[in-house]
Amino acid sequence: MRQQMIEFELDGRPIEAEPGMTVLQATKASGIHIPHLCYHPMFSVSGCCRICVVEVEGGPKLLAACNTPVTPGLKVQTESDRVVRARREILHLYLANYPVDELFSEPASANKLRTYCEKYGVTSSQYAGGEVRHYETDGDNPFFERNLDKCILCERCVRMCDEVVGAHVYDMAFRGFDAKIIAGMDTGLEDSPCIFCGNCITVCPTGALEPVARLGVSSTITSGAAASSEPAPGGRAGVQPRIDGVKEIPTICPYCGVGCAMALQVDRGRIVGCRPLDGPANRTLMCVKGRFGWDFAQHPDRLTTPLIRRHGRLEPASWDEALDRIASRLGSIREKNSPDAICGISSSKCTNEENYLMQKLMRAAIGTNNIDNSARLCHASTVTGLSAAFGSGAATNTIAELETAGVILISGSNTLEAHPVIGFWVHRARARGAKIIVVDPRRTPMTDECYLHLQIAPGTDVPLYNAMMHVILDEGLEDREFIEKRTEGFADLEAVLVDYTPEYASRICGVDPDQIRLAARTYASSRRSTILYAMGMTQHTHGTDNVVTIANLAIITGNVGRPSTGVYPLRGQNNVQGACDMGCLPELYPGYQHVMRAGVREKFESAWSRKLSAEPGLTVMEMFNGALQGKIKAMYIIGENPMLSNPDLKSVRQAIDELEFLVVQDIFLTETAELADVVLPAATWAEKEGTFANTERRVQLIQKAVEPPGQARADWEILCEVASRLGYPMSYGSAAEIMDEIASVTPYYGGIAHDRLGTEGLQWPCPTKDHPGTVFLHHEKFSRGMGLIHRVEYRPPAEVPDDNYPFVLITGRIYYQYHTGSMSRRSEGLESVAPECFIEVHPRTAGELGIEQGELVRVATRRGEVEVKAVITERVGPKVLFMPFHYSEAAANWLTNPEIDEKAKIPELKYCAASLRPASARKEEFGCLAGRLT
Ligand code: SF4
Repeated sequence: MRQQMIEFELDGRPIEAEPGMTVLQATKASGIHIPHLCYHPMFSVSGCCRICVVEVEGGPKLLAACNTPVTPGLKVQTESDRVVRARREILHLYLANYPVDELFSEPASANKLRTYCEKYGVTSSQYAGGEVRHYETDGDNPFFERNLDKCILCERCVRMCDEVVGAHVYDMAFRGFDAKIIAGMDTGLEDSPCIFCGNCITVCPTGALEPVARLGVSSTITSGAAASSEPAPGGRAGVQPRIDGVKEIPTICPYCGVGCAMALQVDRGRIVGCRPLDGPANRTLMCVKGRFGWDFAQHPDRLTTPLIRRHGRLEPASWDEALDRIASRLGSIREKNSPDAICGISSSKCTNEENYLMQKLMRAAIGTNNIDNSARLCHASTVTGLSAAFGSGAATNTIAELETAGVILISGSNTLEAHPVIGFWVHRARARGAKIIVVDPRRTPMTDECYLHLQIAPGTDVPLYNAMMHVILDEGLEDREFIEKRTEGFADLEAVLVDYTPEYASRICGVDPDQIRLAARTYASSRRSTILYAMGMTQHTHGTDNVVTIANLAIITGNVGRPSTGVYPLRGQNNVQGACDMGCLPELYPGYQHVMRAGVREKFESAWSRKLSAEPGLTVMEMFNGALQGKIKAMYIIGENPMLSNPDLKSVRQAIDELEFLVVQDIFLTETAELADVVLPAATWAEKEGTFANTERRVQLIQKAVEPPGQARADWEILCEVASRLGYPMSYGSAAEIMDEIASVTPYYGGIAHDRLGTEGLQWPCPTKDHPGTVFLHHEKFSRGMGLIHRVEYRPPAEVPDDNYPFVLITGRIYYQYHTGSMSRRSEGLESVAPECFIEVHPRTAGELGIEQGELVRVATRRGEVEVKAVITERVGPKVLFMPFHYSEAAANWLTNPEIDEKAKIPELKYCAASLRPASARKEEFGCLAGRLT
């Protein structure tokens, strides 16, 4: 129902506004621009800059448009003589203490103050000549600098950092002439809690905050902010160069699965900067990796030519030599053994189009379903669990809906470090009153500000959630109507929950029973409760159980199928969702069509003109086991690095040694590529076109910004060459053409085409060319019809602590690094901030073992031993150790357990029994110590 609008008059024109709107908001909707510096739609109104003053008929004085509510019949003049005189006066005051020469030498689009000075003809200050304060630039960090000479105290940076980012770096300090924005305790950015996300730069209207200059290009090109944070009509498709000669190419961040929109700034064929764009997932927000970590693409380590192993060494080769070698070796292995002696691992960093071609190559050109992707190591249990419960294994809702959630339950997700921009959306929800509940064995940045942190014992999610559901049923907080009309299986669950009292669960999970009750009541009492989870839930031998338990909780409270409800599995890599969508799964063709379902195989045989295997293939873990058993003879890996990402690296290495032939296609000589027989140099995301699907099922376009270095080529072009040389011609003129083929065989993607994606992309299911995409799933009906409630009982992890291995080791991500580090560790800024691995140890444990802060320790499991620096912290409990897995020199995956969840075949990366003792090495010897085999 259309709400009652308020009518008022603006510059003599009748305007309608929604109730509660301010004059500034109403004029923005009408297309009239009122100058403003401190106002930003993302955060609270300050009203301090005064440049937005307007004249209201009958009013004794001018009013700030940003905090004047619209009332019926109000008559407003936005550019009257009085208003213009006032704005000129305000600009004179600003310029009195501003380096005017610099102002007019900067690009106009990068500095809103300059824009307004030009508009009102103010080129100097009538108040100049008095005392001027000069500040030293605060820039002792690799990312950005603050030049307070250009600061006008609008406080946009303060509010961005407080209300959205939650880092609370900035504050207004001192008074009168001495007033300034300080970072930390006025000690500068580096000694403050700054996380260098750069979102303050995005909203700074005067150029006081700017990225550091890179590659000899003026820093001013990447500022910008003011103008860019509120997009011009037409959105990002109309991105214009911000400085002469510098092109801006709209694309999507290549790091995590949030899918932030960004523009790469390109000067003479080199990337020189990045500007956040107003994409649907980020609304101009970014984190340090996307904003500043793009430089890996230009690292001198880039592979620029194919390599072939000769006499035990990888040596440069021509493309023809390398491709012929691949075709002949794969061809002969297939002939001598069978197509199933070959397997492929596709890339969650490559595009949808490339993933589609990779599985097509394996299925149609080679003849096997042995194709998988890194989702096997992160969200395979999501695909099995959510599919079983809901009928779809993808996020039910849209990232932007988080802002209006009433309760956000975050389980096994270090959201602010692994998916920072989603963490910022959670902060915004909290600012609007949402209650945040975090379930995590560790204290993470999100737990510092949440309503409730349940510091669960690792691997005990099922008893905790069963106990919460026990409380919900006990107190009648379930949604009976929803359960009866839309679900099946409830009676089974009800029976099992009887035993899961909070007291019983507490003895397993370690959470106080009253906290369990509070969490249950809080979640069940809101009609807008939503769940975010990540690998703390999925990477277990009972990962599927964890996922269906979460689904049970959402279903029995009716929190599915409406806005700001549902379940979000947060996807780790930029296109891990797309790799699954595209059928890089051993039992599923593109669009989750089962290889054994009647009619499906025939459809693909017809589309691809090849007889296809009817047998589901091997998963990643089964492929490496198959190599150890001699069944798998050849492996083709694109854009993945199992020699760091898989559990039990000793076994991975042994399996690779058993292979007759290994092809690795990547952008760097990764730890896995070093072992290959042929290495093919691929293009990065900045050097090709295609699409990524983010964690909310949104398919977004990436565009080519620069040429690949040397002879490197786009993965899709390489895959076409390989398939053709294997006797299966594949030829496409563009990534768009590949997407057209995807749409023709994939009902979920049926309506997706490059020319439809624009600035907002499309969320699947999008079955037809006129379908607008699907914002949230399971509205009125689950994808499988009825929501299936599962009966789930607690099962302990595969390997529990004992006298020899008394601790639980959990692994995860940190904010400044990404996955196996192949990209982030080649970003100068990111690596300089987080160059070393560490292990978190509780102070009590450290005291008992005689371990000092920063000391080298030796952490061992039944599979291996690693030396690493100890960080003594209460972030973990006394029996828990935490290590990030990004570092090859102290690789956590020498230690982790390869035992798998029987349903999802995902390994138990999040739990293994470990021992800990001080290393013999002295502290000063710490450096890059190799992970080693026991
Ligand atoms: Fe990139 Fe993820 Fe950071 Fe967004 S949140 S900028 S997608 S790494």
